[in-house]
Amino acid sequence: METNEKKKVVLSAIQPTGTPTLGNYLGALKNWKNMADDYDCFYAVADLHSITVRPEPAQLRRRTLEMYALLLAIGLDPEKNTVFVQSHVNAHAQLAWILNCYTQFGEAARMTQFKDKSEKHPENVNVGLFAYPTLMAADILLYQADFVPIGVDQKQHLEITRNIAERFNGLYGDTFTIPEPFIGKAGAKIMSLQEPTKKMSKSDTNVKAFISVLDDTDTIVRKIKSAVTDSEARVYYAEGKDGVNNLMGIYSCCTGKSFEEIEQEFEGKGYGDFKAAVAEAVAAELAPVRDEFNRLIADKSYLNACMEAGAQKAARVANRTLRKAMKKVGFYQL
Ligand code: ATP
Ligand code: MG
Repeated sequence: METNEKKKVVLSAIQPTGTPTLGNYLGALKNWKNMADDYDCFYAVADLHSITVRPEPAQLRRRTLEMYALLLAIGLDPEKNTVFVQSHVNAHAQLAWILNCYTQFGEAARMTQFKDKSEKHPENVNVGLFAYPTLMAADILLYQADFVPIGVDQKQHLEITRNIAERFNGLYGDTFTIPEPFIGKAGAKIMSLQEPTKKMSKSDTNVKAFISVLDDTDTIVRKIKSAVTDSEARVYYAEGKDGVNNLMGIYSCCTGKSFEEIEQEFEGKGYGDFKAAVAEAVAAELAPVRDEFNRLIADKSYLNACMEAGAQKAARVANRTLRKAMKKVGFYQL
């Protein structure tokens, strides 16, 4: 990339709702790392989003620090990229309020994440869960992001972000950059190991359904061994073979091998050999992340210092956009 050209901006965020899964890693975090050198990147721990499911306060605090450490552990450089905690930058909540007033009830009600999560937690269908997409739009638009690396499950939220931004720009003139989703070819949707028609989620109550990026090798082997497949005992990609397709996708992401190569490799072999190879590839991929995480999490003062600097860098950019939007809406300026 030309050095005298302004770098394109990337923003993405992850909720501290649990330890990231292999799905988060292959679908999002790995791309965050790959984009870190060529773009001006803003990466956030989305703690504001995570209270829609009411975590325990002490647990939220711990998970926020852990998620932050994990972002550094995957190889993000806090000097080069802006790595911060969402609640440390007030502008997110402020712009989200404004965007709420430029979003129709009907369009927010169509979001499949809202429908899924309301079904999962019928006892707590709060307004925050409903307004999730407008807060996510604020996260993105505040930084004038060009690209947003996400998994397929967040595509609909990116579309509503674009609609809200276009609507606002249409009313008030250019205010926000219209962001593009960046969805990797492989790993965009890793499925649950137990119910391979559903996406792998870190908030799943069945721990056998997901691999956490901090799972040790024995745990990885055990979980992959018990992954749901089918009774055919032949490794090939086909509609209806959801469990095998998913394991092939995971194996492909970790080794770079194509599906044809994988089919050839396991020609005449059963699922036992295949699962052992998948587990080995996953363990090799995650071991360096786990080691670096363990090193970093022991150094809280370093993490706090990075967080503080990250929040300041993020706030400078975010406040500029917030002021611009507030002025356009007509809020009285001092
Ligand atoms: P939660 O269940 O709390 O919503 P989550 O696993 O969906 O957790 P998020 O923090 O909501 O994680 O999402 C972080 C990023 O990971 C997003 O970019 C999302 O698109 C991506 N992602 C989530 N699940 C998967 C998956 N199974 N495969 C690929 N990418 C995923
Ligand atoms: Mg999610």
